[in-house]
Amino acid sequence: MEDLLQLKDKNIVIMGVANERSIAWGVAESLSKAGANLFFTYRKERSLKKLNKLLDTNEVEAKAVIQCDVNNDESIAHAFSEIGEDVKVIHGIVHSIAFAHSEDLNDDFVNTSRDGFAFAQDTSAYSLVAVARAARPYMTEGGSIIAMSYYGAERVVRGYNVMGVAKATLEASVKYLAADLGEDNIRVNAISAGAIRTLAAKGVPSFNEVLNKIEENAPLKRNVTKEEVGDMTLAMMSHLSRGVTGEIVYVDSGYNILGI
Ligand code: NAD
Repeated sequence: MEDLLQLKDKNIVIMGVANERSIAWGVAESLSKAGANLFFTYRKERSLKKLNKLLDTNEVEAKAVIQCDVNNDESIAHAFSEIGEDVKVIHGIVHSIAFAHSEDLNDDFVNTSRDGFAFAQDTSAYSLVAVARAARPYMTEGGSIIAMSYYGAERVVRGYNVMGVAKATLEASVKYLAADLGEDNIRVNAISAGAIRTLAAKGVPSFNEVLNKIEENAPLKRNVTKEEVGDMTLAMMSHLSRGVTGEIVYVDSGYNILGI
């Protein structure tokens, strides 16, 4: 199976593990089983502590753990040059990062402030562009970049508001990046994950309602797990998906196919 995936000893950067519930942690577990060399970035000291504990408890090896605040170009440049100069070649990046101010999720979308709009876009969408640019010089053997999106990019999900608009930008950015980076054999895709109870999801006021709706209506009649998103990320990172780029791949129990 490892041969089919061709991920053994590939250098993959995972961005966005905050705790054991993080989608990025589900991804880390899947990629670790496939024998990839994992590099982690974190934003806050408290995430670093949790990440170190998770790595220890689950016997997942990290080749390096590096601070990276995606709101800051210097921080991104520093993180990727640190990893890139060390290993010389980066084969994959998992961007599992998003943030919006809670006041912009708890009010009507029409009341979104200029700053709140810009901040959500910067953190949750532009960061993918900045990260791809910083990593490109080290992705000399081609590779795969994967971002995490959500259905609120395409349809109105009450309470998702400014984040839905940021995800729409993220998904469009995936396509434009795929077009630019294809000549370097770098693929760029997004996974549109179903609702999963994480720290970030706590900020969405309609979250419980969304979980219930999916369970009642989705073809699979259940919600998805971070492990399922992790496994699809593994597939999108691997040799198996070598012909796929610029796509939004759904891991959502089929919820997105429904009409009314
Ligand atoms: P999470 O809170 O575990 O992860 C979000 C991560 O973003 C955290 O690790 C946080 O530190 C990081 N982050 C925020 N601002 C940052 C910054 N400036 N610099 C660096 N890192 C920063 O939540 P999650 O649900 O695992 O979210 C991961 C991704 O999955 C996000 O893009 C989210 O929108 C997406 N997603 C989540 C769901 C869901 O229901 N949980 C569904 C679809 C997509």
